Amino acid sequence: LFSSEEEELYVLDCLGYFMIFMAACTFVALLFQDVPYGRYAPSTGRFRVDARIAWFVQELPAFLVPFCLVVWTSSAKTSLLPNQLVIAMYFCHYIQRSLIYPFLIRGGSVLWLVGWLVNMHSDHILRNLRKPGETGYKIPTGGLFEYVSGANFLGEITEWAGFALAGYSVHSTAFAIFTAVVLSSRAVSHHKWYHAKFEDYPKSRKALVPFLF
Ligand code: NDP
Repeated sequence: LFSSEEEELYVLDCLGYFMIFMAACTFVALLFQDVPYGRYAPSTGRFRVDARIAWFVQELPAFLVPFCLVVWTSSAKTSLLPNQLVIAMYFCHYIQRSLIYPFLIRGGSVLWLVGWLVNMHSDHILRNLRKPGETGYKIPTGGLFEYVSGANFLGEITEWAGFALAGYSVHSTAFAIFTAVVLSSRAVSHHKWYHAKFEDYPKSRKALVPFLF
């Protein structure tokens, strides 16, 4: 009779050996056929899938399933430092592979999206600082305003930096540089202005770049 832990280990061992067996089969198959994606994808294939979506869908379970297991199951083994290091290595790889890599394939688009969202969210916060009929200024809170005075400007600068990366041209780069010059100056001015106007302005808040500047 096996304990449940022994059974678990037995299943795990079987899966491990099965994977090694499959690796041998795959080795033989690959002597005759390249894996048909990227440069080896058939140009006339009927079921072509966007590379970003394909990477995301393929790799996400490799991150999510172990992640949920670690979060939702408690085991004495996962509290041991060496095991935690191995788990951390695994997650470092799969967070990058499933959540970051697919969106960097075309370069810049994620940066643009993040910047755009930050810009819209921050503008939304500013718009709602004044109640109807109110004038004057208040200390903005929430979102990236917790870290910088110019959160809306940081968003917009990031957005155009992503655009420049995606466009990969002197024109898009020029646009991004120009925007960065104008908006970083405005962020610094706002920052100084807030400090002059509000005695209780958060000391840790920076002008434009969280924790730095
Ligand atoms: P500001 O942050 O100066 O102002 C945005 C709005 O929020 C204004 O209506 C302003 O009112 C209000 N507001 C700002 N701070 C406060 C506060 N503390 N309390 C109450 N209300 C506040 O941004 P800009 O007007 O300079 O820019 C607006 C948008 O346009 C931003 O998203 C920016 O990124 C973008 N932009 C882009 C440029 C580019 O080159 N691409 C150039 C300039 C702006 P009020 O007008 O009364 O100050």
